[in-house]
Amino acid sequence: MSKEFSTITINGTRILPGENKTVVFSTHELPSQNLIETPAYVFRSEKKGPVVLLCAGMHGEELNGVEIIRQLLKHPAIAKPLCGTIIAIPVFNIVSFLFSQRDLPDGRDLNRCFPGSKSGSLGSRIAHDIMHNIVPVIDFGIDFHTGGARINNYPQLRCVFDDPRNLELAKLFAPPFIINSPYREGSLRMEASRLGKQILVFEAGESLRFNNTAINEGFTGCLRILKNLEMIKAQLPQSHTIVIGRDKWIRASEAGLFRTPKKFGSFFEKDELI
Ligand SMILES: [Zn+2]
Repeated sequence: MSKEFSTITINGTRILPGENKTVVFSTHELPSQNLIETPAYVFRSEKKGPVVLLCAGMHGEELNGVEIIRQLLKHPAIAKPLCGTIIAIPVFNIVSFLFSQRDLPDGRDLNRCFPGSKSGSLGSRIAHDIMHNIVPVIDFGIDFHTGGARINNYPQLRCVFDDPRNLELAKLFAPPFIINSPYREGSLRMEASRLGKQILVFEAGESLRFNNTAINEGFTGCLRILKNLEMIKAQLPQSHTIVIGRDKWIRASEAGLFRTPKKFGSFFEKDELI
């Protein structure tokens, strides 16, 4: 999985094997001339191994992923990987994060701006920086998202089943659900795949709300995948994963308020009243 083990360079900053560094991989100016600098936290072992990206905050109001990475950054095993490299980016899209909004101020969705360009819109420039400074140095990544406003997603990892490496990595993370999800034009996942890099998308909880189940599943899943790759040592709970090839939304046929006795994430049979 890993390339030749050597110096990693991100946006002109060299990070040697065994070094931990915080690097700015993207800088943009606000109309007030304030610079928005986006940091990446890099942790390298002296021993060869995979280069793993853990990133969140692509959409500025999706907070669970930011918290997952914040908690991972405090975990002692992350700062001293046994092999390979961990690159953690808690907030990809700082401008939208500042406004607690999904999209950028011009209405663009950053995750539809990839691969981006050096002279395009703000989203296009951020996407360009991610594609040029981060994606080339990684082997694979996990991009943390949540459901939308008032859409609470049960913790799930989205990947492309047609690519067996995607499914293999998702199983090492072992979330409650792994769901087949085709690539979307303009997304980080699709553009990274063109460079042979796997990006799995974790979705859990809803926007602007911390959800403990979502945060715990994302945090534990990350530690589990790193442990399964022998990058860290950790005691982790057993997990049970259901692999779903096709998913479907059930929409209410009538207007009104919805209340259900069913617990979030529970099973139901066909024709059962939910
Ligand atoms: Zn999102």
